[in-house]
Amino acid sequence: MVEETLFSKIVNKEIPADILYQDDEVTAFRDINPQAPTHVLIIPNRIIPTVNDVSNADAAVLGRLFIVARRLAEEEGIAEDGYRLLVNCGRHGNQEVFHLHMHLLGGRPLGPMLSRPR
Ligand code: AMP
Repeated sequence: MVEETLFSKIVNKEIPADILYQDDEVTAFRDINPQAPTHVLIIPNRIIPTVNDVSNADAAVLGRLFIVARRLAEEEGIAEDGYRLLVNCGRHGNQEVFHLHMHLLGGRPLGPMLSRPR
C-alpha cells in the first residue's frame, strides 16, 4: 500500500482545502498559513517525498508544476508584478511536509530570497 501524506489526503478530498486547480497529475491549493497575499501550493498528485527522490520518470509532472504556477499567477493577478516559486528540501531547507510541493508566493514585494544567517 502506498503511504499517504497530508497532501495526498487533500488530493483525495479526505481533508478539506481551498483547491484552485486539479487534474490527473497536479493539484494546487491555498496554503493554510499564508506568508504573502497569494500563497498557493502546487503538488504532483503522486507522492514524491523530496527533490532528492526525483527521477527522470518525474520530468513531465515536474514541468506541469511550472505550467500550473504560471496559469495561477495570471489568475491571481500577480503575473505582471512578479512572484516567487520555492521548493524546500529536507532538514536544512525547512521542509515540513514530505510530499514535494512548489510554493507560489506573491502579491507584495517579497524582499531578499533568504533572511540573514543567525
Ligand atoms: P514546507 O515547509 O515547504 O514543507 O511547506 C509546508 C507548507 O504546508 C507550509 O507553508 C504550511 O503552512 C502548509 N500546510 C500545512 N498543512 C496544510 C494544510 N492542511 N492545508 C494547506 N497548507 C498546509
